[in-house]
Amino acid sequence: MKVVEHINEAKDTLFSFEILPPLKGKSIESIYNGIDPLMEFKPKFINVTYHREEYIYRERDKGLLEKVSIRKRPGTVGICAAIMNKYHVDAVPHLICGGFSKDETENALIDLQFLGIDNVLALRGDPIKTESTFKPTENGHSYAVQLIDQIANMNKGNYSHDEIQLAPTNFCIGAAGYPEKHFESMNMATDLHYLKQKVDRGADYIVTQLFFDNKKFFKFVEDCRAIGINVPIIPGLKPITKMRHISFLPKFFHIDFPDELSSELLKCKTDEEVRKIGVEWGIEQSKELKAAGVPCIHYYTMSNSSEVKQIAGEVF
Ligand code: FAD
Repeated sequence: MKVVEHINEAKDTLFSFEILPPLKGKSIESIYNGIDPLMEFKPKFINVTYHREEYIYRERDKGLLEKVSIRKRPGTVGICAAIMNKYHVDAVPHLICGGFSKDETENALIDLQFLGIDNVLALRGDPIKTESTFKPTENGHSYAVQLIDQIANMNKGNYSHDEIQLAPTNFCIGAAGYPEKHFESMNMATDLHYLKQKVDRGADYIVTQLFFDNKKFFKFVEDCRAIGINVPIIPGLKPITKMRHISFLPKFFHIDFPDELSSELLKCKTDEEVRKIGVEWGIEQSKELKAAGVPCIHYYTMSNSSEVKQIAGEVF
């Protein structure tokens, strides 16, 4: 079933979460161990992130270096199939532009349709670590909107090669939104302009980047509605659980902590103290969002479900 169908059917705010494929060498059990504790909150869908290859330089003979591609977290499509099979819950694979040609994307989408996966979150992806700006793969997409075009075209039965006669796909397409602006955008208005383009070209709903200040989310929704973005907007939340999150999260995700939260975090000396505040903040944030009638609250577990379980236990 499609994410938007779940939203349309729901009488109350839905619960959903996102998992990361495990590091190479781990088994599917590590995924199940992260999902099992959250099943009591009846998620209608579970997202699975996609992680593109990284490059390292390895010494060949006589001091010559060769560039080698390594993949740390394999298996988004396989994990989605396993989740749907074991839990009978819809899986939402993340599909990114980076690292894929259009033909490879088309093949991935054909695989997803074959497996009965109705949903895709369409993203551009970040630049790889060795590059300062995002570089599209040869014959690949530069922006998420082009990936959305490709999926929307397949939904109309238009594949990239005319000689292939296949039935139209029927994917529900999600897109990313940024209540505190995407870091590359000149300003919020430009970012919203491109977000509207993604919706106009086929995105059925938006999931936001994580944020800690509900006021920024509410303003974002208001600004989206003002320019005619009328699809459901799902807030994305992540509990702060470690001392290192205090500097890592703002830097990596280009977000601010509200003053009230930062002043509490400044007093913390241990991970346990940070965790307590992170969970309390997550509960308050979730309660306020739920009271405001958001369609769903989406939690970023980042391979750790215990704090999300604590929050959900108070809210759902
Ligand atoms: P886009 O929508 O393409 O936007 C990128 C930038 O370009 C923005 O600044 C935008 O304003 C601008 N822009 C957009 N369209 C145009 C245009 N036509 N012309 C000029 N400028 C334009 N990354 C992963 O690698 N794997 C994941 O699984 C993953 N999951 C995510 C889930 C969510 C909910 C979110 C919010 C992000 C996720 N990301 C993931 C990170 C995401 O890939 C990065 O934030 C990336 O930098 C931007 O992706 P996007 O889809 O928002 O890009």
